[in-house]
Amino acid sequence: MAKITFLGAAGTVTGSKYLAEAGGKRLLVDCGLFEGSKELNQRNWERFSIDPASIDWVLLTHAHIDHTGYLPRLVGNGFHGPIYANPATHELCSLLLPDSAHLQEEEAEFAAKKKYSSHTPPLPLYTVAESQQALQQFREIPRADGFTISPQFSVRPHDAGHILGPSWLELTISENGKQTLVVFSGDVGRYDQPILNDPESPTRADYLLCESTYGDRDHPSGSVADLLADVVSRTAKRGGAVVIPAFAVDRTQLLMYYLRELEDQQRIPHLPVYVDSPMAINVTDLYEKHREDHKLQFRREEESGNRDPLNLHEVHMTRSVEDSKKINDAVSPCIIISASGMATGGRILHHLARRLPDSRSTVLLVGYQAEGTRGRALQDGAKYVGIFGEQVPVRAQVVEIGQLSAHAGKSELLRWLSAVQAPPRETFFVHGEPSGLQGLHDAVVAQFRWNATIPAYLQSFELSAV
Ligand SMILES: [Zn+2]
Repeated sequence: MAKITFLGAAGTVTGSKYLAEAGGKRLLVDCGLFEGSKELNQRNWERFSIDPASIDWVLLTHAHIDHTGYLPRLVGNGFHGPIYANPATHELCSLLLPDSAHLQEEEAEFAAKKKYSSHTPPLPLYTVAESQQALQQFREIPRADGFTISPQFSVRPHDAGHILGPSWLELTISENGKQTLVVFSGDVGRYDQPILNDPESPTRADYLLCESTYGDRDHPSGSVADLLADVVSRTAKRGGAVVIPAFAVDRTQLLMYYLRELEDQQRIPHLPVYVDSPMAINVTDLYEKHREDHKLQFRREEESGNRDPLNLHEVHMTRSVEDSKKINDAVSPCIIISASGMATGGRILHHLARRLPDSRSTVLLVGYQAEGTRGRALQDGAKYVGIFGEQVPVRAQVVEIGQLSAHAGKSELLRWLSAVQAPPRETFFVHGEPSGLQGLHDAVVAQFRWNATIPAYLQSFELSAV
């Protein structure tokens, strides 16, 4: 009988990995890195619960590292099959995976220097070479049409509206002449966004896996433009810097879009904007290329002629480390956008180390901050955060604009689910912290009266075919 096993994002947000098995074949849906607490990070290092060489294929919903960042490790440990992804996801991964590997290598080097690693000698989780090997195994699948992987598995992706090239998947599992339809939500995006499309909704599922990142709450109401204008203007008046940890993919472009709008409307002063992420620069180019994945160009063409919608008044896109370091001397007021979005690593760390002690400055949080990350510590009002082995005092203001989230809030998830016509045999809630998982579980049981389960890490379920 077909089976599904929850190898990640079970009881937690990160590490998405779902193993579907049928007819002696193994398909892994997503292959994400665990991120956040020490305990979660440790899982990336543990022996994988099945032999990676025994997996036949990997299929990806979208490029975020918590859905793809374990691929180089899987490949390093013997997985040699194809990795299926749509063209935009493939291109994003070819930026994100080597970057992730580079960070792993840097961190290991840094830990060796500072002698704070639990591994002696400190090792990277994987190398740039392993990330390149993983990229060799990518095979592009159509953006929206059905695709047959094997006699057991065929897939039809749909737009999930979450980043560039995101999908939720209808996976048809065929075994003994019977078919079972399993829907994987991937990460569900927002409705009525300026850049990305609305998520399409599933209409049928025998089994359904639903992400629950914001399963217990809605995003606050209020206009992003108003809030952003307020934060930028107030900080500029104090003569401070607005420092924004932001994912290079999509969050950075969305911020640039809003800042550009506010500049056009003269609602914020013209400040230098430093986009300190080579990745963000490359991703911005991909928006130009993969127009089928967003509505940016059309919207702007209608409104203001054929101008680059992300072109700010004074923007500095920094690629080199030297240029990045020079931003430390940048005179405020200014705006600095850099990755990673949860301040777990990357260039944002040295900007935070430099600006957090300055009471004129603002740290603006615009995305989900997982438990155990520096971003969450700031969100929770920490007086100090550890950066590069030192305790940095938090004197800057910390402001959150939850409206900028790339994840559907609770009502939006329920809206997304509401198109399903007949109750699935089972709905599994994944990709959430315990409160998010329980919140969505209870809401779905109350509203739709569906069978609902919150699977545990490594738990397996048999998928019965009617
Ligand atoms: Zn995502």
